[in-house]
Amino acid sequence: MVYVITSACAKDELCVDGCPEEAISSGTVTVDGTTYDQFFIDPAKCSDCGSCEATCPETAIFAEDDLESDTKQFKAINAAFFKQ
Ligand code: SF4
Repeated sequence: MVYVITSACAKDELCVDGCPEEAISSGTVTVDGTTYDQFFIDPAKCSDCGSCEATCPETAIFAEDDLESDTKQFKAINAAFFKQ
């Protein structure tokens, strides 16, 4: 399981500083005509520690299994950022 950042991200950087895998990056990606400007978690690096979810002041980060129907797409959006 990996963690996923959604569009509620305000780029606070607490998650970046606390990530032991340096899995979180800032930038933009365009998916299906929408551009997302936020932080993203690299699913190839995330070790499922949960640190980022606990520190995010915006409640923007979720374990992939906890994503709701309106945020499920962010698993693919986070992965797409690292494939571009
Ligand atoms: S769950 Fe842990 S390893 Fe994965 S992105 Fe968050 S802080 Fe980094």
